[in-house]
Amino acid sequence: MSDRVFSVILLPTSECNVACDYCFEHKEKHRLSRLMVPLLTKRLLEHMKHAGYDECEIYWQGGEAMLMGPQWFADTGAYMARAAHEAGRRFTHYLQTNLISYSSAWKEVILGLFQGELGTSMDYPNPHRKLFSGSAEAYTDLWTKRLAEARRDGIQIGVIAVLHQGSIDVGAEAFYRYYTEVLGLENFQVNTPFPGGPAHEVEGQFRLENGQLAAFLVDLFDIWMRDGYDRGVKLGPFDALMDHFEGRAARLPCIWKENCSNQFISVDSKGTVAQCDCWVTSYPEYFFGNLFQEPSLSRMLETSPARRAFVERPGRLVEDEDCLECRYLSICHGGCPVRAYSATGSLVKKDPYCEVYKAVFSTAENHARKLLRKPSPTRWEPVRPSLGALATSRRI
Ligand code: SF4
Ligand code: SF4
Ligand code: SF4
Repeated sequence: MSDRVFSVILLPTSECNVACDYCFEHKEKHRLSRLMVPLLTKRLLEHMKHAGYDECEIYWQGGEAMLMGPQWFADTGAYMARAAHEAGRRFTHYLQTNLISYSSAWKEVILGLFQGELGTSMDYPNPHRKLFSGSAEAYTDLWTKRLAEARRDGIQIGVIAVLHQGSIDVGAEAFYRYYTEVLGLENFQVNTPFPGGPAHEVEGQFRLENGQLAAFLVDLFDIWMRDGYDRGVKLGPFDALMDHFEGRAARLPCIWKENCSNQFISVDSKGTVAQCDCWVTSYPEYFFGNLFQEPSLSRMLETSPARRAFVERPGRLVEDEDCLECRYLSICHGGCPVRAYSATGSLVKKDPYCEVYKAVFSTAENHARKLLRKPSPTRWEPVRPSLGALATSRRI
């Protein structure tokens, strides 16, 4: 058995109850049927056995995952737990939701199946997340209300913020204060945006200038180190970088994994398998296969030409790009395939945020060096990977 992690981003529906400008989902009215859960579970457990995984992390996303209802998750979680127990393995579940339909009816399943945690998203400022029949302001108001309700129910919440030009324009200080003081959060993460799929026509609005983005992130990193780091505020992915550069075990986000294809797959409600939710919703040319139609997930992953392109990408990058000369190669590995593909149309290009990452890595390295020179006070240790493992969302 191995302590490697196998992670599945499961999309039980691509339907959604809101209308974000930058959404790349095909919002089909299709849901993962209860009748298909046993087959899905069987295929995952067979693959875990074949590949030697004890545990599988399931990241439930959408569309909007909460449209499935709390009872659906309670029943599905119970079935999967029973089947895993019989196979001597286990599933750990995480939920990523836009939170708009949260009510206390969810409390029990979140405190049980999801260990009392959920992940959601809010940008600052918020011009792009909108209700069907309302404005971005109405979305922000409703989301903030739902956030308060979930916290009153004792749920720990992590928030993903997708950066956009408005974030850069308000500046890192106002951005940081919004999440930590206005919302009172102690766990949030910043994701870089990227165009993809049906949202391609609006991509121009979401492309950020690398120099501005790097300056913003370096400012934000410095503010967090000054005001949040010693207080235990988790700000991803900076917290993982500090772990790395201070010599602790680091749970780096997928964009900086040695190869995201070693750890992640995504499965949608029809059984389509691809690298992550961005691929399964946007790029049919890179589908690996179908979990409900093919007899073995392991065989699919071993033989899929589309997956081979992901497996071979880091090797191609060191041959064709300048990553081999980069002092951060061992932490970055050329960055995220979907960010490269959506910007250049090629999987074997390095991540277009390369220069931004270099600035952030260098900032983390400098902060870590300063801390390592000081006598070490007791400080907070990161606990769980609930948000930090994934940088798939430029949305949700
Ligand atoms: S920072 Fe840039 S050059 Fe360095 S490994 Fe990452 S993508 Fe390659
Ligand atoms: S977001 Fe990028 S790095 Fe993460 S799993 Fe998807 S393709 Fe891989
Ligand atoms: S980005 Fe997510 S929350 Fe927004 S409309 Fe698309 S699926 Fe729904």
